[in-house]
Amino acid sequence: MTPSALPGQPHIHYKDSHLHIEDCDLEAMAAQHGTPLFVYSKAAMLAALAAYQRGFAGRDAQICYAMKANSSLAVLQVFARAGCGFDIVSGGELERVLAAGGVPSRIIFSGVGKTRHEMQHALQVGIGCFNVESEAEIEVLNDVALKLGKTAPISIRVNPNVDPKTHPYISTGLKGNKFGIAHERTLATYQHAATLAGLRIVGIDCHIGSQITQEAPYLDAMDRMLDLVTAIEAAGISIHHIDFGGGLGIDYQGDTPPPADTLWAKLLAKLDARGFGQRKLMIEPGRSLVGNAGVCVTEVLFMKPGEQKNFCIVDAAMNDLPRPALYQAYHAIVPLAQSKQGDADSALCDVVGPVCESGDWIGHDRSLNVRAGDHLAVLSAGAYCMSMSSNYNSRPRAAELLVDGSNAHLIRSRDTMADQMRGERLL
Ligand SMILES: *Cc1c(COP(=O)(O)O)cnc(C)c1O
Repeated sequence: MTPSALPGQPHIHYKDSHLHIEDCDLEAMAAQHGTPLFVYSKAAMLAALAAYQRGFAGRDAQICYAMKANSSLAVLQVFARAGCGFDIVSGGELERVLAAGGVPSRIIFSGVGKTRHEMQHALQVGIGCFNVESEAEIEVLNDVALKLGKTAPISIRVNPNVDPKTHPYISTGLKGNKFGIAHERTLATYQHAATLAGLRIVGIDCHIGSQITQEAPYLDAMDRMLDLVTAIEAAGISIHHIDFGGGLGIDYQGDTPPPADTLWAKLLAKLDARGFGQRKLMIEPGRSLVGNAGVCVTEVLFMKPGEQKNFCIVDAAMNDLPRPALYQAYHAIVPLAQSKQGDADSALCDVVGPVCESGDWIGHDRSLNVRAGDHLAVLSAGAYCMSMSSNYNSRPRAAELLVDGSNAHLIRSRDTMADQMRGERLL
């Protein structure tokens, strides 16, 4: 049988009727490592990165992987080796990047609630830029830097008040969101920051949301940012780089986000038309670099037919795959054995986990022809799954494999109970 790739996921395909990632058979990996099991394709990550790199060919641009999408050390290492910088949102993420070989000068630090301790550490290691999100943070960062005898490189994160047309929990650039400094306050805030001796203004930043599938919000945000750069520079403050954030969506369910290179061809044309084509650019993609590079393999524990609903109870749950419970998100679910794909006659079932919450579902009304002991792959599980996972219900965090051609590297072993209880004390 000829290999058939899954839509939008060329590195994941059926070969001889069995689902493979690159040249590795997922069934064999599940047998060796158990389930639930996350498996990622290194080639898929590098192909996603290459789309951005093609888009920026010949430009002065720095791609900073927004590591909260997937912060496993070996994943960070893949991007560090490919020359990426990193967008971090906590001191813990800083430690991870450094442990994975990331270059401090290519790290940018976003987030509305940085602590003094996190600011100090980031200044000491020499990160490239703090993306400052409030007027109060500016004062504290200035103070921390002065006390250390350093100057903090900053961008102000602008809230451009643009609707990214995505789920409300992942919209970040609207007036009612907690992120960034209001578009109208930005110039005055830059003028104030320029008077503070502990700060050095290097750029301007925005990030309007996540899982964005249209171009228009990006183009609108870019216009607003460039208007601001013009006004800020007219006030005598120079802006070295412009950071357009991340947020590009992926195909979960027939979604059609523009490819990264196509989107950037349009954005760069606008930059050129407005005379900013030579400016240093930064971007902060997360989901679009890793989301469709990974799957979560899970085993069917029980089929439970019911009067109103049929349930397919699997060994992965909301602690492993939190996106459906958090955002009512859709993940495609396919059997590892191609023959078990549902046809029109198979009954619809809800795929659910063992956690004691009705919110613990992975997919509603899926057509599957499976029984206990069969394996399923939950697709598009490379972003915001393992990095959001928890030990709820005292469930161990899953193991992770990174596939490179015909080699599958174990990059995280499954939690033991000793891992879970570490740090706890009986009275
Ligand atoms: C989460 C986040 C990103 C990445 O968003 P994606 O949708 O995963 O691309 C980029 N920048 C900031 C500041 C973020 O918080």
